[in-house]
Amino acid sequence: MSSNIIGIFVNEGEQIVDANDAFLRMTGYTREDLHAGRMNWMHMTPPEYLARTLERQQELAARQSYTPYEKEYVCQDGSRLPVVVGGIVFQHHPRQVINFVLDNSARKELEQRKDDFISMASHELRTPLTALKMQTQLVRKRLEKQSPHEAATALCRVEGPIKQLERLIGELLDVSKMQAGSLEYVRERVDLDALLREIADAMQHTHPSHRILVRGTVETNLIGDRDRLGQVFTNLLSNAIKYSPGAETVEMDLSTSEDVVTVRVCDHGLGIPREQCDKIFERFYRVTNPRQRTIPGLGMGLYIVAEIIKHHGGTITVDSAVGEGSTFTVTLPKSRET
Ligand code: ADP
Repeated sequence: MSSNIIGIFVNEGEQIVDANDAFLRMTGYTREDLHAGRMNWMHMTPPEYLARTLERQQELAARQSYTPYEKEYVCQDGSRLPVVVGGIVFQHHPRQVINFVLDNSARKELEQRKDDFISMASHELRTPLTALKMQTQLVRKRLEKQSPHEAATALCRVEGPIKQLERLIGELLDVSKMQAGSLEYVRERVDLDALLREIADAMQHTHPSHRILVRGTVETNLIGDRDRLGQVFTNLLSNAIKYSPGAETVEMDLSTSEDVVTVRVCDHGLGIPREQCDKIFERFYRVTNPRQRTIPGLGMGLYIVAEIIKHHGGTITVDSAVGEGSTFTVTLPKSRET
C-alpha cells in the first residue's frame, strides 16, 4: 500500500476504513476525511455505474473476488475520475475487501480525443469534396452547353479544395510516418532568412486579412531539410492568422546568438489557457475553449511542427495569454560548418 504505485483502499461494507496516499490523492480526500469516516465508496459511485457495481458485489460474495472493471468515482470536489478497479476479500471477521484502483483518465481522454478527431476529420475531408463535386458538375453542364469559357472558370475553382485535400492527407501521412519513425529528412544547406521571407510572402498573398511583418535577420545558414523547416513556419504563421480573427498583424521576429537562431511567431488573437500550453503539441490535441472549437482544424499541425524541430535538434515553446495572443518561440542550432 505504501509504495503508492496504484490506489488501494480497504472497505468494510460501504465504509472505506483504510486507503493509501495514491488513492487519497486521486480522489481529493485527506487522511482526516478517512479517519472521520467521511469516505463511503457507494456515495462515491455515480448513479449510472450503480448497476455494474452491484453486479461486481454479487460476484465478490460468490467468489471472494471481482473481475476488474471500468467505472468512475465522484471525487471530494465533485469532479469525476475514470478508474479501473478490482478487488478481493482479505479478512472475514469483520469482512474486509481490498481494492486496487488504476487512474484511467489519460486513456479515457485519448479515446475521447480520437473520437473527436474521427468526426472532425470526416467533416474536414467532406467539405472540400462537396465543393469539388459541385464544381465538376458545373463544368460538365457548361461543356454540354458549349460554353468552354465558363467551364474553364469552374475548373479554376477546383484548385482550392484540391489543395485543401492535399494538405490534409499530407498531414495525416506525416503523422503516421512520424509515429512509425519512418519519416525521411533531407540534409542540405538552408538559407533561413530567404526561406522565411519566401514563406511570409506566399502567406501574405493567400491571407490578405492580416499584415505579416518580418523583423530582423538570422544571417546564417542551417543544415537541415528546407521543405520540412518551411512546413514548420508555414504552420505557425497559418495558426497565428487562423486563431486571431479580427487582428491586423502577425509578426515574425528573427534573431541570432552564438549557438542558436531564434524565430518568434507572434499573434494578437484568442490565446491559449496556461494549463493547455504544453498539451497543444500532442497529437490531435485542440484547445477546449468554445471560440477555438468553432475554428476548423484537426490538431495535427503543432505535433508535426514539434517533431520536425526535435529532429533538427531545436526547441519550441509557447507563451500566451487568453484574449491577448500567443508567441511561439523556435530555436534551431547553428550549423557547425563554416
Ligand atoms: P489545428 O489548428 O489543426 O487544430 P494545431 O496542432 O496546429 O491544430 O494546433 C493545436 C491547437 O492549438 C489548436 O486547435 C488551437 O486550439 C491551439 N492553437 C495553435 N496555435 C494557436 C494560436 N496561434 N493561438 C491560439 N491557439 C492556437
